[in-house]
Amino acid sequence: MKLPKKNGQIYLSLQAMNLIPLLILGLIITFVCYHTTASAMHAQVEEDLKNMTDAVMLAYDLLYPGDYHLEGTEAFELFKGDRAITFDYSIIDQIKADSQMEITIFYEDTRILTTICDEDGNRIIGSGANTLVIRDVLTTGQPHFYTKTTIFDNEYFSYYAPLRNSDKTIVGMVYAGKPCADVNAAVKSAVLPAMFITLGSIVVVIITSSSYTRKLTTSLQKIRVFLSKVSTGNLGAELDPGVLKRGDELSDMGYAAIYMQSALRTLVEQDTLTELNNRRYADKHLRQVQAHANLYGTPFVIAIGDIDFFKSVNDTYGHECGDLVLKRVAYLLKKHMTGKGFVARWGGEEFLFVYDNDDLDSAREQTEALLEEIRKQEIIYEEQSIHITMTFGLAEGGVNSHMRALLQTADNKLYYGKENGRNQVVI
Ligand code: GH3
Ligand code: MG
Ligand code: MG
Repeated sequence: MKLPKKNGQIYLSLQAMNLIPLLILGLIITFVCYHTTASAMHAQVEEDLKNMTDAVMLAYDLLYPGDYHLEGTEAFELFKGDRAITFDYSIIDQIKADSQMEITIFYEDTRILTTICDEDGNRIIGSGANTLVIRDVLTTGQPHFYTKTTIFDNEYFSYYAPLRNSDKTIVGMVYAGKPCADVNAAVKSAVLPAMFITLGSIVVVIITSSSYTRKLTTSLQKIRVFLSKVSTGNLGAELDPGVLKRGDELSDMGYAAIYMQSALRTLVEQDTLTELNNRRYADKHLRQVQAHANLYGTPFVIAIGDIDFFKSVNDTYGHECGDLVLKRVAYLLKKHMTGKGFVARWGGEEFLFVYDNDDLDSAREQTEALLEEIRKQEIIYEEQSIHITMTFGLAEGGVNSHMRALLQTADNKLYYGKENGRNQVVI
């Protein structure tokens, strides 16, 4: 079975899950931050402009006590008390130099004194206030703040305060303004650090989240590859130990996959009665032994051993007893072959042995020692003592030997042993 290849889908989903809300949050924070700062600064500008109009009125009152009035017959001139102020720009120019604010003094709705100049650098005196300002300030007698007024093509934050004489009659207006471009630049420079911090934090979170997500999905991918190897019959596949070291649900999943692999291996490669390797695994192992010998030029010996007169064990004591005998013998064989090579249940009461890197004489000596142990083994079944013997046939292999032929040779020797008295090792 072939698994569909889908790399990176979980990664993308997790990234989207983490990052989309984060980006939305970032945008909201930036938006709110900009608007809060802007409205706070606009309020501050309004306060500053209001204070400035108060200060201008106070300055004129202190310097030139008396009321505002016009004098003249043809060319009128504005007086404050007994001082003609129409051409005296010193006060408002000084205020502009100190505060960067534009100042205008209106008599009724006409600019008499102003710091605002047109593009040719001429003060825009004699021009009128716009109708909205006349309605909001002159008519109502209330000061008014505007976040955008256009005066000779330039936009200003503007504050207009009614100008009153001592009898409270409105004689004009005092204007204080700041160019919108200056205020907006100040808002931007106040907001930019906060925006950079927000964006920087988002970038840091994106990088961190990306790296965690990558590690997570890489582990998932490793488990997936491992499972697909196992599912295609590779029971020797190994799972990256890094996955097991995570210590989270994924490492639990990794362990579960390994246990499953081991359970499958037991099912597929082990004989259930004796717990020895089964014939299927023995066949695989024999191919590996031959490949190893071909590669390294090492000799090896295979042996087939068969319990003598086993049928009579079954017949005399019953099948259950036969099973017990098989288990005891298997235990002995396994113990004997530890560190020497390989043993498997080859069939019924027949076993296959491989002596690694060994020659025929040495293997025979070891098998005879094993046979001696088997002879001495007493198996008690329902208070009856059972002794068994075995017959072995051996064959030596090496570079380029043919496993089928070797098995046949071992089998022939075994047959010979059976024919010639059993209970022996034949080479
Ligand atoms: P020989 O010395 O010629 O090998 O004689 P034998 O009786 O051992 O050989 P034979 O082939 O005649 O009998 C083998 C018996 O082993 C027959 C079968 O019932 C028994 N046997 C095979 N597998 C099992 C098993 O798993 N459990 C039990 N109890 N008996 C088994
Ligand atoms: Mg037998
Ligand atoms: Mg047999």
